[in-house]
Amino acid sequence: MIRIRGARSNNLKSVDLEVPRGSLTVFAGPSGSGKSSLVFDTIAAEAGHQVNETYPPFLRNRLPKWTRPEADEISGLSPVVVIDQRRLGGNARSTVGTITDTWTYLRLLYSRIGDPHLGGESNRFSFNDPAGMCPTCSGLGEAVEIDTASFLDLGRTLKEGAILLPGFVDGGYWLTKYTDLGWFPADEPLRSWTEDQRGALLHGGAHLDRLGVEPPADFEGLVAWFERIYLHTSDNLSDRKREAIERFTRSGTCPECGGDRLNAEARAVTVLGRTIGELALMEVAELADLVAGVQDAAVAPVVSALVERLRAMDAIGLGYLHLGRATTSLSGGESQRVKTVKHLGSSLIEMLYIFDEPTVGLHPQDVHAMIGLLERLRDKGNTVLVVEHDPAVMAVADQVVEIGPDGGAAGGRVVFQGRFDRLRGADTPTALALAKPAPVGAAPREPFGAITIERAARNNLQEVTVDLPTGVLTVLTGVAGSGKSSLAAELVEQHGAIVVDQRAVAANRRSTPITYTGIAAPVRKLFAKASGLPAKYFSANSEGACADCKGLGVVYTDLAFMDGQETVCETCGGLRFTAEALRHRVDGLTIAEVGDLTILEALQRLADPAIRKGLHHLDRVGLGYLRLGQPLSTLSGGECQRVKIARELREAAEPSLYVLDEPTTGLHLRDIDTLMAVLDQLVEGGHTVVVIEHHTEVIRRADWIVDLGPGAGRHGGRVLYEGRVADMRGTATARALGQD
Ligand code: ADP
Ligand code: ADP
Ligand code: ZN
Ligand code: ZN
Repeated sequence: MIRIRGARSNNLKSVDLEVPRGSLTVFAGPSGSGKSSLVFDTIAAEAGHQVNETYPPFLRNRLPKWTRPEADEISGLSPVVVIDQRRLGGNARSTVGTITDTWTYLRLLYSRIGDPHLGGESNRFSFNDPAGMCPTCSGLGEAVEIDTASFLDLGRTLKEGAILLPGFVDGGYWLTKYTDLGWFPADEPLRSWTEDQRGALLHGGAHLDRLGVEPPADFEGLVAWFERIYLHTSDNLSDRKREAIERFTRSGTCPECGGDRLNAEARAVTVLGRTIGELALMEVAELADLVAGVQDAAVAPVVSALVERLRAMDAIGLGYLHLGRATTSLSGGESQRVKTVKHLGSSLIEMLYIFDEPTVGLHPQDVHAMIGLLERLRDKGNTVLVVEHDPAVMAVADQVVEIGPDGGAAGGRVVFQGRFDRLRGADTPTALALAKPAPVGAAPREPFGAITIERAARNNLQEVTVDLPTGVLTVLTGVAGSGKSSLAAELVEQHGAIVVDQRAVAANRRSTPITYTGIAAPVRKLFAKASGLPAKYFSANSEGACADCKGLGVVYTDLAFMDGQETVCETCGGLRFTAEALRHRVDGLTIAEVGDLTILEALQRLADPAIRKGLHHLDRVGLGYLRLGQPLSTLSGGECQRVKIARELREAAEPSLYVLDEPTTGLHLRDIDTLMAVLDQLVEGGHTVVVIEHHTEVIRRADWIVDLGPGAGRHGGRVLYEGRVADMRGTATARALGQD
């Protein structure tokens, strides 16, 4: 047993729990009830922390940091592997092939039996190794070219902002460097300059000679300037820099290797008459069949390991990917499944695997494959814990643990533990939501008109032309990889739209619901009025800040080789405010205690129209359980998306097109109604709402559906059905809805 006593992280109310090892346990419960606090912040954090402790300090500094949970006892743990939906991320050298190790097997295959035989080692087929990489693109497959045409607006003069690069404003440092030279006709639009004048501005060099001018020693043209500031810098680019690079460069396929990433020698080697570059472009499912045909006994173990891995990828709905696909382009759900495959191949046993909503992004048809993977991991002798809302996963689990009964302070307890069939008879939010009859779709709303996506051919889309009704709610459905996101991206490109995604709410580390909703000022005003002091005395970023921790509440000590130590500030006890600020109260609360209120409580206790206006939309989208002072950086993807929906509700202006990607992510069954009410409100406000969704209840309640398929990748990309949901027949989605 994994045994937990007195767990108190975040909202947990001294939870005692025993989870059987070697089994599959699902953690369910309303949003914000404490599932993640228990599974990630308590169980995973303790296991991670203890494993880190076994390493020497200098190594520990390089391992992921785990904050030790608050609990009286946690025992029976094993080393933990967390498989979450964080995207695989930012490195252009990482592909589906490298991350799943399938590329390693392919390299072995080519180095052993390739024709011609190159000899040497398999790194001759590695694009991340100098021995194999294409010299022109260093193995990236793409070459970045500076797009000088995008630097300049020829219709303007220098002073009017002809240089479009960031920072070249009239009177600014960079622009003045050029205008002060006196050789450029600063008052004429660039169009009427001579070729050499424009050339000198962009490149310097021979153009300067032809102009007959003597440049200062530190002169550089705009291209050299751009390379220095944007391209030849460290790897950690700020978002602003990244945007500038995207705007002023083009990335094209590498002219030498044509995207294969390898040098000429490696590109010429074939197995079964195909180059490794060709295999990198095949869909995984087909590649498996092809590789299975390699007969050579010398590589039999490599072939069987590779085929097994590829088939596992196919089994969890990744058969449509190709090994050359950059992991940066994978969605959260795809990333999670790729990580799962990696661990299936592991021969370690008695590990602890923790999954965060593994069914996200999966069509009901694909959910079964994912469940099969979870069961395989368990059957190999591991303990598998899954945070999940999908009843199909609860149904196969050995146990369901429900945390509840509600979100935030009203949650944090174990309200049920046992098999799924027993849960159905229990009296918990999950049981009640399960017992509720499926909603009968109300009569679909009448659209105002339609917009057309014309001849969409992005990724796998097969010249799709489709009408979307305006002023109603449309769902895009289909199995994973069928082309839903591609169609949505095309919609955004052709018609412009407000995209409400799950990326982190753009905000700095100190952002909280208070700062984000703009209620900080009205709150301070309430305190100013009650105390007779100026409002700034109640700001932890200003006069109200505790002098010793500068309003941070913690003091950071750098211990060089050891983990840096964050300790609570002794002066303010972590409250961040001066003693003077803390002396005054509104409705019995100090300014510090306001941060502990949930949004719902704040609406009840801080009677002020500006505060109400700022907060009530967050409540409307089911986030009433968030604390006012909770950093937005701690929100999940689904919560971030709902924060953004709330912002749209607040600002909703003229009729717009909204595109949402799986807004039910992280949402408990019970909260689906809340979400639907919000989407309905957008529609009633005259907006057009398009959502990518797998949740059958949301699909049933939409006014219109576009179902893509039939398969993934090359086998999808077509519209199978467009029309009213209730009339759809004969597709996998219709079957999932029970309409077939
Ligand atoms: P669930 O996983 O069930 O959605 P969580 O465990 O994420 O719920 O959250 C439980 C409660 O703890 C919520 O009220 C949430 O706002 C709060 N919470 C979660 N993480 C943090 C954190 N890092 N700091 C403060 N509060 C948090
Ligand atoms: P869905 O949203 O239905 O899961 P997508 O639109 O994401 O499907 O994907 C459709 C097809 O396009 C898949 O074969 C996928 O691998 C491919 N695809 C998606 N994004 C990219 C990309 N950035 N580069 C290459 N192929 C992509
Ligand atoms: Zn190249
Ligand atoms: Zn302090």
